[in-house]
Amino acid sequence: MSIITIDLDGTLINDQHKICDENIQAIQNAQNQGYEVVIATGRAYFDAKEILKKNNLSLYIIGANGATIHNMAGENLLTVPMPTGHVTRNIMQWLEEHQYYYEVFCEDGIYTPSYGREILNTELAQERQFRTADRIDVMEVALSKQLGQIGFRQMHGYQDFFANDKKIFNILVFTFDEEKKKRGIKKFKNIPNLTLVHSSPFNFELEHVDASKGNALVYLAKKLGIDLERSMAVGDSGNDVSMFKVVSDSFAMTNADGDIQKQAKYMTKNNNEQGVAHAIYQFLGKNK
Ligand code: CA
Repeated sequence: MSIITIDLDGTLINDQHKICDENIQAIQNAQNQGYEVVIATGRAYFDAKEILKKNNLSLYIIGANGATIHNMAGENLLTVPMPTGHVTRNIMQWLEEHQYYYEVFCEDGIYTPSYGREILNTELAQERQFRTADRIDVMEVALSKQLGQIGFRQMHGYQDFFANDKKIFNILVFTFDEEKKKRGIKKFKNIPNLTLVHSSPFNFELEHVDASKGNALVYLAKKLGIDLERSMAVGDSGNDVSMFKVVSDSFAMTNADGDIQKQAKYMTKNNNEQGVAHAIYQFLGKNK
């Protein structure tokens, strides 16, 4: 037995926000040959599940960058929440005071301040004044993807949120302002027990230091009795590197940044050229 682990955005999903038939067939092909196929994404479980359902795929889902694992029946196998109390409260308070758009991933939804979209629209209007049309296109696509997630719940602010005792899996900060992003990263990169990762050029995400795609994959493989020494993973971003490190055959997409590509053993094609199917067939061929 062997595991094939696939990232969603920028990997399985193309720039038109679709999973192409060739990729779906490659996954089903691997499943028919007895391979376990797992999705590992920064997205919340319910959001990722909806995307798979639309494409007739039923797979294990490592969600929120490894803070959750769910099986095909929707049962939760693992949660790695962020430290509760003042740590997360202080983060949200600071983000609000400094006018950041952010999302809090919980079991029952993605909580976000109601004024958040206005912040992003203002940032985008500022960027329009000096960015090229191509760059603005990229930003608009990123924005529609961000706001197109399933499961949003509006809140007035962090005080509202902390009235209930909820497990937090992930805090995602999204901004078009490069300097603002840098200031946020500087503020939060060294908080004890937290880790900071990126799943897009416009975001950073905070979660428990033990939550990573790689750790979740190790946990799941152990539970399923599968050896990762004969397994593959494919991805395109910083949040995929932890899983590259724990499998025998790691594949980077050609649309990944150069430093991400360097961390993978193999390269596949890009996300608009069915890079996932290409990687899967290469892996299956090798293991015949
Ligand atoms: Ca990705």
